[in-house]
Amino acid sequence: MSDSSKIEWTDATWNPVRGCTKISPGCKHCYAETFAERFRGVKGHPYEQGFDLRLVPEKLTEPFSWRSPKLVFVNSMSDLFQTGVPDDYVEAVARVMVTANWHTYQVLTKRSERLRDALRGELGFAAQQENIWWGVSVEDRKYGLPRIDHLRTAPARVRFLSVEPLLEDLGKVDLSGISWVIVGGESGPGARPMKKEWVVSIREQCRAQRVPFFFKQWGGVRKVRNGRKLDGRTYDEYPQRTAVPVPDRTMCEALAESISKWFEGITEQGLKPEALRTA
Ligand code: SF4
Repeated sequence: MSDSSKIEWTDATWNPVRGCTKISPGCKHCYAETFAERFRGVKGHPYEQGFDLRLVPEKLTEPFSWRSPKLVFVNSMSDLFQTGVPDDYVEAVARVMVTANWHTYQVLTKRSERLRDALRGELGFAAQQENIWWGVSVEDRKYGLPRIDHLRTAPARVRFLSVEPLLEDLGKVDLSGISWVIVGGESGPGARPMKKEWVVSIREQCRAQRVPFFFKQWGGVRKVRNGRKLDGRTYDEYPQRTAVPVPDRTMCEALAESISKWFEGITEQGLKPEALRTA
């Protein structure tokens, strides 16, 4: 969607899928829904259909057009693993990430069982890529903690947690097999409060289990004023990244073309046209 982003832990967002449905308390004040619904009915706008699920195949090859390596938040306006996204389309997104491997992709989902099953199966070719970080959202104990166990049993090389919005004390968290933890509070009107001791508990567990810790924000109604310092400092830790040079423009175009051709092939073979509800 954009080769720059205001989200603290990424450089760019890429949205080959738009729209989603709510599945757990963390979704209550979904920023993506609020943004998308503002444009429902606006002719020609990318969110003319509001937050309804839509595949956006013309965005599939967008990472090939970026001329510098980026940290890319995949589907910041959606959830790649929701039921309505066909397996073939998820595979197409993964093929782009494997091929355009000079970027580092952050794939975040609340549909952790489908993520696990896909990495064990049809996405096995992408599971071990060090430039693809597979993550789950963790907002509370009831819905969030089981997602960590699903993620841990997925054969991913890099696994991460987005503990945001943190809604309660998570207690003791098993971070084995986890390479990165982001924590943040909810922001905007009606934001649910986050207590400092909940954040400190996670930071200390990250320290003890040697997991990089990123503190995104306190959140609240006045997000900017509340800032992102914890005990007088910021926490901007990341997993290690390997630098891969960007190929020249001609090569990037050829690679993008090969992905487009493959995608046309599977579309002809049966990816249901109604799934491609483009604007
Ligand atoms: S899963 Fe994410 S994108 Fe989907 S409704 Fe929930 S918060 Fe929004």
